[in-house]
Amino acid sequence: MCTGGDIKATERSLRIRYAIRDVVLHAEKLEKAGHNVLKLNIGDPLAYDFKTPEHVKRGVYKAMEEGKNGYTPSKGVLELREEIVKKEKKSGVQLEPEDVIVTTGVTEALLLIFGATLDSGDEILVPGPTYPPYITYSRFFGGNPVSYRTVEERGWEPDLEDIKNKITSKTKCIAIINPNNPTGALYSKETVKAILRLVEEHNQENENKIFVLSDEIYDKLVFEGEKAPSTASLNPHVPVIILNGISKIYLAPGWRLGYLAFRDVDGILSQIREGVENIARSRLCASSIAQYGYLEALRGEDEFLKDVIAKLKKRRDLCYNEINSIEGLSTTLPKGAFYMFPKIHVTEHDEKFVLDVLDKVHVLFVHGSGFCERYGKGHFRLVFLPPLPVLEEGLKRLRKYMHEINKSKD
Ligand code: PLP
Repeated sequence: MCTGGDIKATERSLRIRYAIRDVVLHAEKLEKAGHNVLKLNIGDPLAYDFKTPEHVKRGVYKAMEEGKNGYTPSKGVLELREEIVKKEKKSGVQLEPEDVIVTTGVTEALLLIFGATLDSGDEILVPGPTYPPYITYSRFFGGNPVSYRTVEERGWEPDLEDIKNKITSKTKCIAIINPNNPTGALYSKETVKAILRLVEEHNQENENKIFVLSDEIYDKLVFEGEKAPSTASLNPHVPVIILNGISKIYLAPGWRLGYLAFRDVDGILSQIREGVENIARSRLCASSIAQYGYLEALRGEDEFLKDVIAKLKKRRDLCYNEINSIEGLSTTLPKGAFYMFPKIHVTEHDEKFVLDVLDKVHVLFVHGSGFCERYGKGHFRLVFLPPLPVLEEGLKRLRKYMHEINKSKD
């Protein structure tokens, strides 16, 4: 008789948590019971009123019609890799098509990189808080993700001293996510340069070299006219692996397409590159037709982004003003991406808080500790992608909830 769980699953798979999707299970129960749940939890623009640009979609239709439905080279179609090289060149980064590997999203790129980089006990410094796969995937490969502090009072900029103190002989790389998920921080050029300088000095003085993993998936989603700095362009002496993709800027996350690119220095990354390429070959290739969609995206104009950013800015401003006017909550102003990371002043138990808000007023957020136990706790992530009326209603419900909490504390 099968009693369930007879065949053991691996520890490493059972340990995986993904807060962003885990909270959805609770929301689904409420929806099944007939409640209208407002979902301000998921970073998918297509779940709201954003649309994939026509020229990008046409790239996919055309490729399918033209029979480009077979496997592609494991690194991706050459035309696309050439276009990615041009894109990076515009940001001041010199690459060759050979340096680029097209992946099934940045998420797969992380699997490839961690699979090739992390042996048991190897450390990777990740922003605290961070996009969760940096933690779960690095652990999956036996690595040890170490969170470096980002400072709320300074718009969630990385704490350089903390990074410096956490570099050990086991550190393999430092991840930078800029603009950041979940805080919406846009790190200044000076900050990124300072991190690179740290790595440069470390590499000059030590046998164990470190590279920078730069996640730039929100690079064009910035609000105040500033540009997100392109990490690799800021220091030619530091090896950088660049990550980017179609999901957020070109509004097609379901196509699952992205890339990683090696900007190496003195061959420091040559073994990692070999390992990544081996894994890339064994998983065949990324979606052929999605690659042609990305090709059109990169070849086309970015005019559509003006509307996207204008819409998002209005939504951000509404959330910023509302959250800061609710007693017991406060937030910094996100300068990029579409996330806000408010502080809960009434409790440190952010998961309980988020589930209670969901239960009582049916608004879904993600608890901050899901992005980092240490530096995310006492916060929650709000996604300001939904249209203004949805956000207004969600914040009205949150205000009501906080009113009750504050009253019960009097
Ligand atoms: N990197 C960051 C920082 C993200 O926030 C996300 C998604 O939310 C991803 C990567 C996922 O990218 P992709 O859809 O290309 O896998």
